[in-house]
Amino acid sequence: MMEFAATSQTGVAHKVNQDGYRLQRDEDGSYIAIVADGMGGHVAGEVASALAVEAIWQALITEREQDPDERLLRAVQAANAVIFQRAQEDPACAGMGTTIVVVIADESNLHIAHVGDSRAYLCRQGELQALTSDHSYVNELVRRGQLAPEKAHAHPQRNLLLRSLGTLPEVQVEYTRFEWSEGDLLLLCSDGLTNPLTDAQIATIVSVKQELSLRVHHLVQAAVAAGGRDDITAALLANGEASQRRDGE
Ligand code: CA
Repeated sequence: MMEFAATSQTGVAHKVNQDGYRLQRDEDGSYIAIVADGMGGHVAGEVASALAVEAIWQALITEREQDPDERLLRAVQAANAVIFQRAQEDPACAGMGTTIVVVIADESNLHIAHVGDSRAYLCRQGELQALTSDHSYVNELVRRGQLAPEKAHAHPQRNLLLRSLGTLPEVQVEYTRFEWSEGDLLLLCSDGLTNPLTDAQIATIVSVKQELSLRVHHLVQAAVAAGGRDDITAALLANGEASQRRDGE
């Protein structure tokens, strides 16, 4: 038994929401969660993220017999081809791209593929643990020890990605697997959530024992209150019945 909720809000800096998401139980009993954060002029970012979510969803539900890692890599690569081709054919979409984070979850495992800086986190007993590492210039500086992690939030080039989906004919996809168990929470989100909020702030909101739909709304509200102007997307999947539990149980 799992519960889930997701929401997305257009940032005040944008006319349309360039984030896309889908979170749904698949026929085979697993859960599929996808968050994409599109980029490109005018409506192109919205097109890229919508194409990515749809192409990945369709690829995953039509290719269930492969191992999860292969299934995810093929789905993300298929989405890359769809977006890249559209960008070649439609001048309004030239140069568009998107981040992607996609998870296939069952009660024991999280299979995660990502490109760019949309993130997956595990929340266990009130502690937030990053499951993905951003493919961004700033994160590369942090990894090399050239930038303190606490300064990454405010770096002027924090939006510069080293990888994105749909901008080149081929894409390098990162796959990881984590074990999780009952009581754990999975959070997928765009940088509209993680730029204005600290991990500690996110962990506090995500851990409040209330319905998941309220938790994702409170995440968005907190990001806006902290000055977030970007599109904000948050998707939560609970291993077990999160909203039924009360403190002390
Ligand atoms: Ca964004």
